[in-house]
Amino acid sequence: MKLYKIKKSKIDNKGRGLYAAKDIKEGTKIINYTGKIITNKQVDESDKYDNNKPIYLFTLNKRYTLDGDFSWNTAGLINHSCDPNSQYDGKGLKIWITAIKDIKKGEEFTCDYGFGFDKDYKQFPCKCRAKNCCGYIVREESRWRIHKKFAMSKKS
Ligand SMILES: [Zn+2]
Repeated sequence: MKLYKIKKSKIDNKGRGLYAAKDIKEGTKIINYTGKIITNKQVDESDKYDNNKPIYLFTLNKRYTLDGDFSWNTAGLINHSCDPNSQYDGKGLKIWITAIKDIKKGEEFTCDYGFGFDKDYKQFPCKCRAKNCCGYIVREESRWRIHKKFAMSKKS
């Protein structure tokens, strides 16, 4: 039995998400993240990877990147949350999604997309509604900088 179901997402209201089809224990592998393996050089040189869909690209190592921007990559439907219940795991050239909490049947799977903090972060607003949501899809280590920016703009 599959561990997931595809349904309309509560987070991304234009899109779909993946939901737990049964109760899942922390540490369970949920689904493989599949795609096409391309070279990092291709990423640099092709227009397709011109920063419009960076959320589907995973740098695997110095040479290769996994491009998951394909309709058959079901795991690509998993949405970002600032308080995720799952994470991307990988070994060699493979990537999959693992539960990092116990997840109840019917909950939506979420991962931290882990974007770095850069000038373009405002392109990717976050609607995850987690208590700690910083408003943008930015990886955890970088979020404090945004919180700091909010605090500063409130003061002035
Ligand atoms: Zn958020």
